[in-house]
Amino acid sequence: MEDIMELEGRHVLQTYARAPFVLDHGQGCWAYDTQGNAYLDCVAGIAVNALGHAHPALVAALTGQAGKLWHTSNLYHTAPHARLAARLCAHSFAERVFFCNSGAEANEGAFKFARKWAHDHYGPEKHVIVAFTNAFHGRTFGALAATPREKYQAPFRPLLPGVRIAPFNDLAGAAAAFDDSVCAAIVEPIQGEGGIHPATPEFLAGLRDLCDRHNALLIFDEVQCGVGRSGTLWAYQGYGVTPDLLTAAKPLAGGLPMGAILMSEAVAAAMHPGDHGSTFAGSPLVAAVAEALLDQVDRPEFLADVAARGEYLKERLEELNSPHIAGVRGRGLMIGADLDIPAADVINAGYRHGLLLANAGPQTLRLVPPLIITRAEIDTLIERLTAALAELG
Ligand SMILES: *Cc1c(COP(=O)(O)O)cnc(C)c1O
Repeated sequence: MEDIMELEGRHVLQTYARAPFVLDHGQGCWAYDTQGNAYLDCVAGIAVNALGHAHPALVAALTGQAGKLWHTSNLYHTAPHARLAARLCAHSFAERVFFCNSGAEANEGAFKFARKWAHDHYGPEKHVIVAFTNAFHGRTFGALAATPREKYQAPFRPLLPGVRIAPFNDLAGAAAAFDDSVCAAIVEPIQGEGGIHPATPEFLAGLRDLCDRHNALLIFDEVQCGVGRSGTLWAYQGYGVTPDLLTAAKPLAGGLPMGAILMSEAVAAAMHPGDHGSTFAGSPLVAAVAEALLDQVDRPEFLADVAARGEYLKERLEELNSPHIAGVRGRGLMIGADLDIPAADVINAGYRHGLLLANAGPQTLRLVPPLIITRAEIDTLIERLTAALAELG
């Protein structure tokens, strides 16, 4: 274990503070380190491993496709790619899908599609993208400009121009940012990294209206809250507000890198061969796993149960009655708990009690376990979290 941590410390770019153990394998909601310690995984690779670790259906899809065809580039047709796109369209507002490899890349693509659409219909003046305070859209250059956090942006200024920041969940503030130079607004229906803040229904409905009045496109970033996590397949379905573009990634292929941009035909019509691309995206290997993931997640009973188990987790957290927990919020299995102490202290205490926990901001605990977590496992989480919090006085 020490040798691996020493190698990492010496040779890996130090952009992450990693936990003080080496993970070796996982099964369901449990991860095991090289010393044989078991951790109840309430992070799921940052809301990625929707079916936990080593889910038999995903392993079967992966190994079945692995001996057949991994990668072809987008110069060729492959069945999993086409079937997955059709399925995402059948189960959303969208009429077309563009696949990519990550959340940031999905947002970059959505920005390009919105710019192209506006350019074609209204000319180059209409190019401004409105994003919101506390948002997280990724670390690449364009996405970073729409991620207004000083710590992330400051070292890399000047940022990409053409992005305007408006206050989240404040419709009057948002309206002030709109004029006819706006081509799109991007918003997370439930902010993830920013601390698990659901948008209000009035805010999303108002944004839809602002976009319509200014001939701008509405982009929902569902990279974290999409694919079942909120208790509906897409978070927008829980709000009843439909975007023009939707970006997805984290859980889409159950832990393999995949992103997707879902869009209406009106947006798609602006894009032509050669306008955008990706070497790796939508490979048969990754798409086959994503199909298997949707087989499990995209079922009404399963989604209803995600919502019910999410409510159960929220209730248990609310009655946990630790002086350190100041408030609990979220939807489905995307839950934040505000603390009166640094989240890092709770995360570290969690390791000693066999829990993998993450934060969303300095004082908010983020619980985004695999969507298959059982009520019994939620009880175990609460027991261990209670013990970890008690240790902190
Ligand atoms: C994680 C995240 C991203 C960035 O995804 P990457 O795959 O890390 O590039 C973008 N938007 C939201 C809402 C996210 O949670």
